[in-house]
Amino acid sequence: MRPIIGITCGLNENINSIGAEYISAIEESGGTPIALTLVKKSECIDDFIDIIDGLLLSGGVDADPMLYNEEPHPALGRIDVDRDNVEMQLISKAISIGLPIFGICRGIQMLNVAAGGTLYQDINASFNNVLKHRQSAPGYYGTHTIEVHEESRLLKIIGLSKIRVNSFHHQAVREVAPGFTISAVAHDGVIEGIESVNNNFAIGVQFHPELMWQNNPPINALFMEFIREARKYKSKK
Ligand code: MN
Repeated sequence: MRPIIGITCGLNENINSIGAEYISAIEESGGTPIALTLVKKSECIDDFIDIIDGLLLSGGVDADPMLYNEEPHPALGRIDVDRDNVEMQLISKAISIGLPIFGICRGIQMLNVAAGGTLYQDINASFNNVLKHRQSAPGYYGTHTIEVHEESRLLKIIGLSKIRVNSFHHQAVREVAPGFTISAVAHDGVIEGIESVNNNFAIGVQFHPELMWQNNPPINALFMEFIREARKYKSKK
């Protein structure tokens, strides 16, 4: 049996939804994707955690700044309190038992917040000489460069110290959570990757690898490594 990868849902016009690209990326990398719906009961979240071998935090709307004790900035976008609540519980439970976590875009932000870090509510308001992080180019196309830190697990996975990535965000990690470290930054200083400092696999990226893994072995390696870790976790269950 393949490792079961739970993917968190967004809510769009009262429909729990996951972009088809996340599902394909997991399926093509050897996992079986299932939807982690926006439930209200924490028993259901416990069941999700029991069932899955890996937690994929998908992209989506902004995190409620209340989660890191800030008042809302005027440039804060749409928030989804029910989704925040589900993801906060999933992440803290997953971290506490060493369940592999892969956070994408909003996912890196929620991973950081759930672990005790903070965010920039709007990088355009907070950075001088900020780059364009909400590209108009297609998703498969990398529009800005990231520098991948030496010694990082990210570097070991993708094998490149510099790579072009896509960009569809206006928020970013500010203070990195305890137990995590920066793995990649853009040239304007915006954090584009964080990872757990212990042996458990918990990685977040600010870009969207699910839109650019095809014909891109370094990016595809992120999903392959996540599934490898999920398989390892499953075998120890
Ligand atoms: Mn970016």
